[in-house]
Amino acid sequence: MLHNKKRLATGILALISGALFSTAVQANVVASIKPVGFIVAAIADGVTPVKVLLPDGASEHDYSLRPSDIKNIRNTDLVVWVGPEMEAFMPKVVAQLAAKKSLEIASLADVKPLLIRGSTEEEQELASEHHHDENSAEHHHHGEYNMHLWLSPEIARNTAVAIHAKLLELMPQSRDKLDANLQHFEAALAQSDKDIEKQLAPVKDKGYFVFHDAYGYFEKHYGLSPSGHFTVNPEIQPGAQHLHNIRTQLVEQKAVCVFAEPQFRPAVIDAVARGTQVRKGTLDPLGIDVRLGKDSYVKFLSQLSSQYTRCLKGA
Ligand SMILES: [Zn+2]
Repeated sequence: MLHNKKRLATGILALISGALFSTAVQANVVASIKPVGFIVAAIADGVTPVKVLLPDGASEHDYSLRPSDIKNIRNTDLVVWVGPEMEAFMPKVVAQLAAKKSLEIASLADVKPLLIRGSTEEEQELASEHHHDENSAEHHHHGEYNMHLWLSPEIARNTAVAIHAKLLELMPQSRDKLDANLQHFEAALAQSDKDIEKQLAPVKDKGYFVFHDAYGYFEKHYGLSPSGHFTVNPEIQPGAQHLHNIRTQLVEQKAVCVFAEPQFRPAVIDAVARGTQVRKGTLDPLGIDVRLGKDSYVKFLSQLSSQYTRCLKGA
């Protein structure tokens, strides 16, 4: 009996130390928005799970953290996000973390030179209905740069390298797996980059309008020919003059497609396109249908490429 008890106790001890060991090799990793989560998940695959803050269907431009999100972030070992000009819901809570626990993509030394300008505030003012509306002033917090950085394959690669370094600091015992994951990510990205370039080549010169000013990095990288966007910030309705200008271009057949987004299917897009030859497509800048995993980032890019091609080709 005593013997059994002793054996049981040893067994329990072994279980406890096993549990301690397995929690010790994992880290609490949080990504602000899903496409950032795609890159983190590629590097963390098989090493540690990744949580995403922004729920599917929510806008990256307009989200407030829930108390459970704030708790998640406080317990985190690493939070990966774009920067204060993208996720306005992040800086306050990130400021409470130790600096080494935050990886801000926009401030990485090898990302900064790759930033491209977004629409200026003046352009946005002109395009929106609210130019003289005092209440909308708070919406006009647009930085100098387009902050949809996850749509740049180069920035995604640099981000992956930085995430790899951070995870290695947290879990040096997982070096082999982390190294292999980074290598896999880089190879898969290079291959998918070639495939996408081939896929988009025939539609490079077709004009189109996108719903919001999110796609600059992708469009520049693949040499697409956007005619413009309905709005800079999806929360701001485009103004009548701006819509009229878009409609004129559609009537003159200077563009073949208008793209909505899964989260935003505004009636203005239908209204503007009514009675023209223009086709309607959908672009998903956040990959809401893509599941987090090893290859989710390249799946997301390929999906976006197919969404462009399907509409621009007009098959
Ligand atoms: Zn956006």
